[in-house]
Amino acid sequence: MGHEGFRIPRRFVTRDAIDDETDRLEKAIAASGDEISANRKIVCDELGEQYAAIFDAHLQMLRDAKLHDELVEMIRQRHYSPEYAVSRTLRRYAKVFREVKSGYLAERASDVVDIEKRLLRNLLGIRREELANVSSPVIVLAHNLTPSETANLNRDFVRAFVTEVGGPGSHTAIVAGALEIPAVVGVGPFLTEVSGGDQVIIDGDQGVVILHPDEETLARYHYEAERNRAYATQLESLRTLPADTADGVHIELLGNIEFSSEVRHCLDRGGAGVGLYRTEFLYLGAEHEPTEEVQFEAYSSVIEQLDGQPLVIRTLDLGADKVRPGQFDEDDKNPFLGLRSIRLSLRETDRFRTQLRAVLRASALGDVRVMFPLVSTVLELRKARMVLHDVMEDLEDRGIPFNRDLPVGMMVEVPAAVVMIDHFVPDLDFFSIGTNDLIQYTLAVDRDNKEVADLYNACDPAVLRLIQMAVNAGRRHNKPVNVCGQMSGNPVYTMLLIGMGLRQMSVRPSAIPEIKKVCRSVTTTQCEDIAARAARMDNARDIKNFLKDELRKLLPEISV
Ligand code: PEP
Ligand code: MG
Repeated sequence: MGHEGFRIPRRFVTRDAIDDETDRLEKAIAASGDEISANRKIVCDELGEQYAAIFDAHLQMLRDAKLHDELVEMIRQRHYSPEYAVSRTLRRYAKVFREVKSGYLAERASDVVDIEKRLLRNLLGIRREELANVSSPVIVLAHNLTPSETANLNRDFVRAFVTEVGGPGSHTAIVAGALEIPAVVGVGPFLTEVSGGDQVIIDGDQGVVILHPDEETLARYHYEAERNRAYATQLESLRTLPADTADGVHIELLGNIEFSSEVRHCLDRGGAGVGLYRTEFLYLGAEHEPTEEVQFEAYSSVIEQLDGQPLVIRTLDLGADKVRPGQFDEDDKNPFLGLRSIRLSLRETDRFRTQLRAVLRASALGDVRVMFPLVSTVLELRKARMVLHDVMEDLEDRGIPFNRDLPVGMMVEVPAAVVMIDHFVPDLDFFSIGTNDLIQYTLAVDRDNKEVADLYNACDPAVLRLIQMAVNAGRRHNKPVNVCGQMSGNPVYTMLLIGMGLRQMSVRPSAIPEIKKVCRSVTTTQCEDIAARAARMDNARDIKNFLKDELRKLLPEISV
């Protein structure tokens, strides 16, 4: 992409933010100067002084007093954001250089563009640091937040967030659910319409953001919030009751967690254990790769809190969007189809072994099960099992205790795995359907892309047929089947999933009470009838409307 490939929208800062924003500009200029000086030194040491001279020109330009005053004036007098001031001013300089009929000056234009990019990157970096260190209540409005940035949000102060890009099935949205921060991910361009201090409503349930709401809308939302609180209080009475259907069929309702601190939420809400522990968040949130000991400690803490209830530890699902800051590979055009998840673990086996050692040691402490993510071929499963076996031998040789009969499962989230499911099942003790990825790979819809978010549909008939195939295989082989994608945490799908034969669901902890309520309000016969009728429909829209209607008939108080 050429240097004109990005545009900084004209944004304004409020009067009381002017000092802070000017300060951010100064810091960005200083940080950019330090970077250029460091580069100058490297080039000078390696290639000699004459090659380093180019950096002097950059430094001179960056520290030019006239440029500095012009930028500050734009923020102070015209209330432009520092990003917009930088972009507008430096682009104007570059244009002037380009238009002068001198080869030397025309070349300087690209230096100006370089400085613009460097300053913008540093301005953004400072913003991101500020985000990690907020100390008073804020609502975050951002172009994008990665899952690892989201994981590092301070939930004591971040009341809600909205991003322009991303999708509702993204890991950023999942982490928001884990932190119980109301969020709308992938709402489209809106940042030019809003400034710090403006009033906004963020409706995470409906995926709606309302800028500058009128009195009537505000009153409606206050009323809704009150109603939701009352409903949540009413559901608290179900906490200690089982998630059995009205005709007495037991549904095992478990929680999905990303952080060990969530176990408490899961149990407080009446979860019967943890059906999915996304262990990669130990990596995403950390400055350094967690050691075996750090992982073992985290697992031990979860096991202790669970007090005998089951814990399914999923091995690292790193890659694609789940990378540490600065590790995103911009050259990888298809990261969701690339080296991620179990593929990465099998490529970098040292890291995989370290984790498996921690899992196995933890297996001596409670009801631990291990699960491999994104398996797409039987050979992958066998290789993963071989590494596990190898690590077991190692621990045995060293006399370290672990559970030799540790149950081994896999995520079913690639259509190929469903098609070949009968060949996987003999090597498995259980499996869990990951609808988040299953939807994206079945429908060829990026779960992270708002442009196609309307096509990302859990109730697309193609997805439902694959789920049904997987459930049937579990029944044929008498192996437990779980569903742990976002779908199982949405009450619209609960009756359908039970009707398809599922008896285990793993959901974000905050969804447990509502899902339990649905389970306890229906009979399996009702559910089977609903599943049979849905199976005869040929499109997602009809199925979704039908399921919503059925849920409203069952529980009129629920908002869907
Ligand atoms: C899934 O894909 O459904 C799943 C549970 O895994 P993740 O959301 O972490 O990719
Ligand atoms: Mg997945």
